[in-house]
Amino acid sequence: MNSLPPVIHVAVHRPFYSTLDYSYDPKSDEIPTGSRVEVKLAGRSTVGLVMGHSPTPTLADPKKLKPMTKLMDSEPILDAHLVELLTWSAQYYHEPIGEVVFTALPVLLRQQRPLNLPIWWQLKPTEQNPTADLQRAKRQLALYEWLKTQGGYVSEEAIAAWAGTGWRVVMRHLVEKGLVESTTLPPAQIEHIAAAPHLTLTDQQLDTVGHIQQTIEHPVLKPILLHGITGSGKTEVYLRVMAPILAQGKQVLVLVPEISLTPQLLNRFRTHYPHERMVCLHSALTDQERLQSWLQARQQQVRIIIGTRSAVFTPCPDLGLIVIDEEHDLSFKQQEGFRYHGRDLAIKRAQMLNVPIILGSATPSLETLHNATSGRFHYFHLAQRPGTAKPPSVQLQSTRGQSLRSGLSALTLTEIKQTLARHEQVMLFINRRGFAPVLKCSACGWSGQCEYCSANMTYHSRQGKLICHHCSVEKFVPEQCPHCGHHHLLTQGQGTERLELVLGQTFPQTPIIRIDRDSTSRKGALAERLQQVHDNPTAILVGTQMLAKGHDFPNLTLVVVLEADAALMSSEYHARERLGQLLVQVAGRAGRADKLGRVIIQTNHPENPALLTLLEHGYTIFAKQLLDERKRWHYPPFGYQALIRANAPELNEALEALDKIAEHLQLLGLGGVILLGPTTAMLEKRAGRYRTQLLLQSTQRKALHKLLNYLTQTTKQLKFPASVRWSIDVDPLDLT
Ligand code: ADP
Ligand code: ZN
Ligand code: ZN
Repeated sequence: MNSLPPVIHVAVHRPFYSTLDYSYDPKSDEIPTGSRVEVKLAGRSTVGLVMGHSPTPTLADPKKLKPMTKLMDSEPILDAHLVELLTWSAQYYHEPIGEVVFTALPVLLRQQRPLNLPIWWQLKPTEQNPTADLQRAKRQLALYEWLKTQGGYVSEEAIAAWAGTGWRVVMRHLVEKGLVESTTLPPAQIEHIAAAPHLTLTDQQLDTVGHIQQTIEHPVLKPILLHGITGSGKTEVYLRVMAPILAQGKQVLVLVPEISLTPQLLNRFRTHYPHERMVCLHSALTDQERLQSWLQARQQQVRIIIGTRSAVFTPCPDLGLIVIDEEHDLSFKQQEGFRYHGRDLAIKRAQMLNVPIILGSATPSLETLHNATSGRFHYFHLAQRPGTAKPPSVQLQSTRGQSLRSGLSALTLTEIKQTLARHEQVMLFINRRGFAPVLKCSACGWSGQCEYCSANMTYHSRQGKLICHHCSVEKFVPEQCPHCGHHHLLTQGQGTERLELVLGQTFPQTPIIRIDRDSTSRKGALAERLQQVHDNPTAILVGTQMLAKGHDFPNLTLVVVLEADAALMSSEYHARERLGQLLVQVAGRAGRADKLGRVIIQTNHPENPALLTLLEHGYTIFAKQLLDERKRWHYPPFGYQALIRANAPELNEALEALDKIAEHLQLLGLGGVILLGPTTAMLEKRAGRYRTQLLLQSTQRKALHKLLNYLTQTTKQLKFPASVRWSIDVDPLDLT
């Protein structure tokens, strides 16, 4: 007989790359995978998630095996599929398993306390009328009658507010009489929204919907790329493809870049499916609300789940479709901690479950385009806008040798004037908030550097402050030069605040609406600004990246892009892909209705081949050229990369750490992986820490992963000083 106890493999919230084993007593406990357990770790009690079982201990010395303390959940909180997805993610991203699991769980489930869900109450449906029986219990009768008026579930707070203290006793009597029932989770309310009349699909949309429906009936599925120019009606296609899936009672998971930026999108889902229960998982939810939505998805009480990156981990027991809107968007990639890509994990999830997945974009990422051309993904193209809406005309305007007024050329100013005279809107796009990126002394050349970063601080005139955009440190603007005492400080370059000011002076009759992170930080401020845009047919919008996404501005006919050159000249190989995407997206804001849109890109490099290709031949050819270039260098998607980053208070510590890692890897043998570095990062110092990086690249994914595995299994041998922090970023998208 085997006397060794069976074990559970438990993920704890610590930086361990593998799960920990604990024993349990199979006679008294059944510990399902996906449940939370309490375990002892270094003498302290902590929460863990059961990732699997073994009939016998895997430890060399089973006597060291500790028993788990207690099962926390009466049923598993994660199903087998999610446990498998998380296990896979930890291996793929070389991330400690606990970090992965605890990133995926709602905050309230990460804590060591039982799930304290608020309770909701409602009358049980019943034939008999109990009021006669309750005549002698006045409080019970009153509560009963009140619940009747409420119709549906009522929260504890609402009951307490109406009935005052002591209501629980009264309620208990009603429960005992079988009149009232309670639940910890009321079904999501269906909001009463008027259905929008369904649009008549264009032939192209109809075709696409038909083709997508055919492909998703196929037993072997491939991801679907829906490449549709801005305004071609991709959202309309998602909505139609969803219909039969919802009709089968299945769930649809929709991932979007940033919900606060896409109120219009949400609204279209709501009004198209006013009778479907829907939740929205976004960063503005409280922990309680998030948990509630998460549980509703898990109990299948909601069927449309719309969320940002982390919503990819939402339990959906009957998932029928995943949609990733704006699949190219960088916000799907988490840039710290567990550095996963929400789109890629969604693709993996769809593949594991064999459910269809649609990736939509006007500017697909190079990886996705490559997957489509190589046949790994289906490809559908929407090349036209419905109705009379025409794509805008785009022109490059050379600023070389021109004298600019706060970054604006004379020609641009004339175009703005003419557009306003036609009572139309203008948008100026500049990717920098604040007034100016540099504040300088005209006498000695001093400039406002951040103490903690190797970067200038940005001058914000409204607040009268210098703010570092890398570490957020602020200080008041000095009245005189801190170096020589000179009284004349100058600004250099421009940001949104300066453009707002200058345009206000130039066009005093026109509302100037600035939309950036500063002007919209207050809750509701973005909605107000968008309303202003809506209310003022003649207006100038000044904004950052925030303006590039998703908004419909029917009266906007001129878009001006300022300072695109930095990205054009960047040595980061992703920069040009992103610039191309941004330009196409920004241009897509112009001329959405029946008016023709125009786009002006001011640049010092009007003969730049990449820009010219983009303008003359469009995004697809532009992307193909970039892909050819990447192929030559074996860059992704033709090769595989991982970036190891280190940081420390001293530069040499951060460099030495990576030297050590490089040596360590060389000892094993690189097996076809190239090491580039260690080097200092482009932003050498940030928030007081020096940053270095080591890039690993290979044409063999396996070789790269083998090396990273070895590294994570043997990190203890490296003995880094405590001041050094380091991390692994698989498929990095930001090499700065
Ligand atoms: P995309 O997601 O591709 O940018 P949308 O789905 O947001 O495009 O559609 C752009 C605009 O065109 C929206 O205002 C939408 O209501 C409208 N639209 C889409 N399809 C049709 C159609 N078949 N008929 C009329 N208007 C449409
Ligand atoms: Zn000075
Ligand atoms: Zn700083």
